Amino acid sequence: MTTVQLNKLSRYYGTYHALRDVSLSVQSGEFIVLLGPSGCGKSTLLSAIAGLDDLQGGQVLLDNQDVTKQEPSRRNIGMVFQSYALYPTMTARQNLSFGLEVARTPKAEINQRVEWAAQVLQLTPLLNRKPGQLSGGQRQRVAIGRALVRKSNLFLFDEPLSNLDAKLRTEMRVEIKALHERLGATFIYVTHDQIEAMTLASKIAVMRSGVIEQFGPPEELYDRPASLFVADFLGSPSMNQLAGELRVEDGRVFVEHAGGRSEVTGYPFAALPKDGLEVVLGLRPEQLSIGEGGGAGRLTVRLLLIEPLGADSLAWCEVGGQRMSVRVPPALARSLSGELPVSFAPATVSLFDKTIGHRL
Ligand code: ADP
Repeated sequence: MTTVQLNKLSRYYGTYHALRDVSLSVQSGEFIVLLGPSGCGKSTLLSAIAGLDDLQGGQVLLDNQDVTKQEPSRRNIGMVFQSYALYPTMTARQNLSFGLEVARTPKAEINQRVEWAAQVLQLTPLLNRKPGQLSGGQRQRVAIGRALVRKSNLFLFDEPLSNLDAKLRTEMRVEIKALHERLGATFIYVTHDQIEAMTLASKIAVMRSGVIEQFGPPEELYDRPASLFVADFLGSPSMNQLAGELRVEDGRVFVEHAGGRSEVTGYPFAALPKDGLEVVLGLRPEQLSIGEGGGAGRLTVRLLLIEPLGADSLAWCEVGGQRMSVRVPPALARSLSGELPVSFAPATVSLFDKTIGHRL
């Protein structure tokens, strides 16, 4: 079992502060996804855990042992990178056993571990092939196998699927999730793909400019994003954002926004709402209903077009010069046209302070 504790990690590249006092606590057996746009510090954080990079401050603890100064090879971490870096002249079996041979592991044990990893990853019939004779997905499985034979309890993945085409990526995603469940090991996985993050993670850490902006289970980040940045990053299409102004009247709270005025008294405000505050209403496409039956939130929008997605449809609308999407059943979508009343339940949506972008 492996727990990971990061305390105030700081990493500079020259004057650029790539990790700004990042702290993170990972329980044994969790599947943590580091998610964020390119350049936010995900790979730097992963390298810090692996020990591949020097830190200017902070501590890395594995199983409560301070390993900050320990060599990468002594941390016994399984790593899988974006570029598989398989040896092209070696067979899959040789690729799997090479690291163990270098570490002078006894031959019988090497064989046993390679057989086991091959079986877990369904590579057994392919062990005598060279990388050139394997498909992209099979090569990636060999790369994962190379990490697996180390018998580690902690695996780090750095964008392992980004070189694969869309279909293969979906298949490998399922395999990686199944592998995690089978091993019960701790996984830390870097991606900029929000769907990968939502489907794989037990918890997601959303990173932005060298800090973790929010850390929690995918549903929590999706339903209650702590900031506009997180709200925008998760979900496809992204959360609708409607600017407005808060009105506090006799203990009731309203938002005046383009297309209407919505009572949001039932919203779980973290602090007492202030009259006149500039806010952003965050509305997921599925939180909006056509008609007035959806709740106390009300606005009128103009239908632009219907986008059929199969199981449901997106009604793309416009209000106050802003585009919004509403998820609707296909049968209803076909009957829509012109100006539409839309409603929502205020308790379930998101409200942000427009100036600082934080959740209210
Ligand atoms: P991510 O993995 O989220 O794309 P990285 O961790 O690779 O981001 O990089 C974080 C920031 O640090 C980026 O702005 C990147 O340009 C910078 N950076 C990364 N590695 C180096 C390096 N070796 N030298 C200088 N700057 C670097």
